[in-house]
Amino acid sequence: MPSYREFYRRSIDDREGFWREQAALIEWQQPFERVCDYDRPPFVKWFVGGTTNLCHNAVDRHLAERAQQNALIWVSTEVEQERVYSFAALHAEVQRMAAVLLSAGVKQGDRVLLYMPMIPEAAFAMLACARIGAIHSVVFGGFASVSLASRIDDAQPVLVISADAGSRGGKVMAYKPLLDEAIRLAQHQPAKVLMVDRGLSAFERVAGRDLDYAAMREQHLDAQVPCTWVESNHPSYTLYTSGTTGKPKGVQRDTGGYAVALAASMTQIFDGRPGETYFSTSDIGWVVGHSYIVYGPLLAGMATIMYEGLPIRPDGGIWWKLVEQYRVSVMFSAPTAVRVLKKQDPALLSKYDLSSLKRLFLAGEPLDEPTAQWIAKGLGKPIVDNYWQTETGWPILGIANGVEPAPSKWGSPGVPMVGYDVRLIDETTGAELTGAHQKGVVAIEGPLPPGCMQTVWRDDERFVKTYWSTIPGRQIYSTFDWGIRDEDGYFFILGRTDDVINVAGHRLGTREIEESIASHPNVAEVAVVGVADPLKGQVAMAFAVLKDASAAADPTAALKLEGEIMKRVDETLGAVGRPARVRFVSVLPKTRSGKLLRRAIQAVCERRDPGDLTTIEDPSALQQIRDLVNAG
Ligand code: AMP
Repeated sequence: MPSYREFYRRSIDDREGFWREQAALIEWQQPFERVCDYDRPPFVKWFVGGTTNLCHNAVDRHLAERAQQNALIWVSTEVEQERVYSFAALHAEVQRMAAVLLSAGVKQGDRVLLYMPMIPEAAFAMLACARIGAIHSVVFGGFASVSLASRIDDAQPVLVISADAGSRGGKVMAYKPLLDEAIRLAQHQPAKVLMVDRGLSAFERVAGRDLDYAAMREQHLDAQVPCTWVESNHPSYTLYTSGTTGKPKGVQRDTGGYAVALAASMTQIFDGRPGETYFSTSDIGWVVGHSYIVYGPLLAGMATIMYEGLPIRPDGGIWWKLVEQYRVSVMFSAPTAVRVLKKQDPALLSKYDLSSLKRLFLAGEPLDEPTAQWIAKGLGKPIVDNYWQTETGWPILGIANGVEPAPSKWGSPGVPMVGYDVRLIDETTGAELTGAHQKGVVAIEGPLPPGCMQTVWRDDERFVKTYWSTIPGRQIYSTFDWGIRDEDGYFFILGRTDDVINVAGHRLGTREIEESIASHPNVAEVAVVGVADPLKGQVAMAFAVLKDASAAADPTAALKLEGEIMKRVDETLGAVGRPARVRFVSVLPKTRSGKLLRRAIQAVCERRDPGDLTTIEDPSALQQIRDLVNAG
């Protein structure tokens, strides 16, 4: 077996040869003619001319060898239910769902938007879309009507699939009213809405538009829906993610490249084997849920656990109980979740038999050393940090223990994974930083490896402009993260270069939150910044200038207004975007040219030195914020 260094080098120096071999990890109906078409940079096409199907590779392909093995294990501590589907059972359910989609008029290339809680039908729907060549677009259930409406308008789905409600901490969260409101707000009108009724929350049906999944499923119990073979570059899904503007970007993913990249990552990075069980605690609304709840484990012939509930209910041992019960070998979570567990009784970490568990992978936000040490010690298992983005679909940096076991370094997500030609760039000169411990923008030389975003949905120009045009003098992909590299080639991530914040592993654009707050009738202007938080990594802090300042004249009135504004954010963006505080000021700190000094605000909130303020228009603006922060 080659060393990881050699293995990686080949993925860059002999890109075609390397990925041709990896492509054998999945089944192709028609072989591809060309491994990598990079004739039109930065756009890349992988495995051109090959036809395949994600659902075939995730489900059908395993029937010969493991039809009766567990495929999808659904556990809900919210509604106290568990359902286990073998590959054969999953195959049947996905075909039923596919038949329902077809009968609802969904065709190849059509978009199907999913606004669903963590229920098996969500996974069936994703796989069913892939089966018939429809493009799914999952919107996280925590988003509210305005966020949902903008995604409906961008994706233009023919069908929306939803459910009556989700549940969080025992509290029912109705989805249907938010969906109805979103469709009312949207310009694009989906022809049909397919409803999964869990019996949690009564809802109104729109005649002629709303369909009932249970009833339609009954009509298709014996459905046999063959997989539609699609060309490797056929989009499998879009997934919206935040950036610096208020308008989220639809990250578009291909089919063949994604399947190959995920299959490769399952062995190389996660070291998972067919027949084992994978448990990712993420949500299908995020990229980790797409790659490592649904597709990755199933492509690898592993069972996957889909968990609806909190990590601390009924108690902080629930995840480890599941590890014992289902003999989980690979587990994937986020640092925030571990920080939540840290507040629980540590004895819960050693209460269950974790002998099946090989490693715990953590990603989505910086992993601080105390948190990593605490969980490593508590579980007695290796912790593997890994760094990636919605855009890339699978880890950019990590440790490829499946290729060659290597130690992790505290605070570092690791080294570049195969195919990622990672560079550190000086953001002002565009020069490459090759020395150890130099801080630069983490950038990736094109072509991006298989599985990464193809483009921004319906907006090639935005793809080029946003990701490939920010470094002076060269076309290189920017991650918008700062990083350094040590003498051993391990990277350390130092935070975002843009206005994106990371709250409990969830990526949010400060502009989106500002737009939501600014829609309150009494808000004239607002600045939102991300502020370091011991539990969530970062929280959003808002500073608003009011049209009528008397509305917040006394502390009680200010608190009431703050509550009103938060409610507005909940209703438009969703509770994920709710700022920790909304404070009122008479003026915001800006440069003389009118640019908001977000970094200075952030520094003051974190009680750091705001740096050079020679360009500030009105120094008292920052003082007002400082006074509020000091007053607590
Ligand atoms: P998302 O697209 O929501 O997955 O967010 C991606 C962003 O989260 C990255 O650009 C980083 O800023 C941050 N991130 C993800 N994983 C890590 C990690 N392991 N360490 C530090 N930051 C991370």
